[in-house]
Amino acid sequence: MRIDVFTIFPTLVDGFCSESLLGRARTASLLDLRVHDLREHTSDAHRTVDDAPFGGGAGMVMRPEPIFASVRSAQPPRPLLLLSPGGRRFDQAMAKSFAASGGFSLLCGRYEGVDHRVVTGLCDGEVSIGDYVLGGGEVAACVIIEAVARLIPGVMGNDESAVSESFEGGLLEAPHFTRPAEYEGHEVPEVLRSGDHARIARWRHAQALHRTMALRPDLIARRGGLNDVEKRLLEEFPSLPYPEGSL
Ligand code: SAM
Repeated sequence: MRIDVFTIFPTLVDGFCSESLLGRARTASLLDLRVHDLREHTSDAHRTVDDAPFGGGAGMVMRPEPIFASVRSAQPPRPLLLLSPGGRRFDQAMAKSFAASGGFSLLCGRYEGVDHRVVTGLCDGEVSIGDYVLGGGEVAACVIIEAVARLIPGVMGNDESAVSESFEGGLLEAPHFTRPAEYEGHEVPEVLRSGDHARIARWRHAQALHRTMALRPDLIARRGGLNDVEKRLLEEFPSLPYPEGSL
């Protein structure tokens, strides 16, 4: 999997992607991450990448020349996606489809964004990590890279964990418990200590349903509600408690 990133802050991306799981994936050659400094393709002494907007208005705009030059020289894997608050919302399904591809590339905007000719003449699309505005695309790039890289076979220690994770099958994951079995009066559910793996699997499925209904009822609606087997499962295993109220 090759991922190219174009940015004026290469150390932000490279630093984040050198630690933990991503760092290990790179060392093991499972992830070929290439971070390109757009300033290397400027022609003035100040290595200028921005200029005032035509038509006036606040802020600066990223000039097209360094971006075109950097991308042409790197010949990055396609699609080349511009990080942008107006782009298609990144989600687990998109992460999966990127992970199944040979690679892709990300362009990080700064200031008010990039000259629109970069969007029309160079990029293949725009992607957003949510409906809010960041100062630049670097954090968004790191979010996407981490979400994708952990789905590449061999990157996670236990590939099974991806199968039962949130959003698989349209549900959130069931809650987890570890030692001690009793903490400040709160006990780990008896079923998890029973050794009965079939019952544990049914309990986890029920808790995934309960948790999704409590925290993300939209996901339940999207999958068309609950079937009869699931309704019986919920009766068999009541919900764990969840905090009252929401943000
Ligand atoms: N003026 C732009 C607008 O109103 O849409 C916002 C520009 S923002 C300050 C600078 C850069 O941060 C953007 O060009 C983009 O690359 C990145 N960025 C900001 N929010 C983002 C988001 N939610 N998802 C992905 N990238 C984002």
